[in-house]
Amino acid sequence: MKAKLKKSEFEEIYRLLGSVSPLDYDCGTLCGAACCTKGDDPEMGIYLLPGEEKLFERDEDWFVWSTERAEDYDFPDSWKGAVHFIRCKTPPVCPREKRPIQCRSFPLLPHISEDGELSLVYNDFEPPYSCPLIEEELPLNDDFYEATLEAWRRLISDPLIYDLVRMDSKNREDSVKELAELLGEDIG
Ligand code: SF4
Ligand code: SF4
Repeated sequence: MKAKLKKSEFEEIYRLLGSVSPLDYDCGTLCGAACCTKGDDPEMGIYLLPGEEKLFERDEDWFVWSTERAEDYDFPDSWKGAVHFIRCKTPPVCPREKRPIQCRSFPLLPHISEDGELSLVYNDFEPPYSCPLIEEELPLNDDFYEATLEAWRRLISDPLIYDLVRMDSKNREDSVKELAELLGEDIG
């Protein structure tokens, strides 16, 4: 896959997100860092965005690296060929400055509406753990929200990443519409 963003642009995004946190304290203390340990599911990996692999040597001792074919997973049709996954060996311990975008953005996800507007929503995938930030809708730090929104604004300038975010957003919208239909509601 031909990623548009350069290594230096990913480094800048990592820096932007490196100085902010969802809360003023380590939210891992609320849940035993559930999103890192992932309910002890060893198969759960973190996929890297196209081009994000440039930030890794691939032989780091804190994760297992694997490369799969995008076509074998639920990625957009525009994703062809190699997609990279890491599986952490000693979660939740890792070099903080090396955490992938997915870890930095959690519990928020980017959403692109039908008219192309970018926003952030709480992660609504169904992970095998529960996140108190989502369950209890704890207010997140403004600087975390703003930095995450800015990071995704930059990330979706790559059409491949845009396609991923729009695909997930469309699925989300379809689920909301289906639910509304089941409940007989008019969501306009
Ligand atoms: S983001 Fe949620 S699941 Fe992850 S450590 Fe914080 S509170 Fe726990
Ligand atoms: S990279 Fe770090 S923050 Fe992300 S899941 Fe692994 S241990 Fe957790």
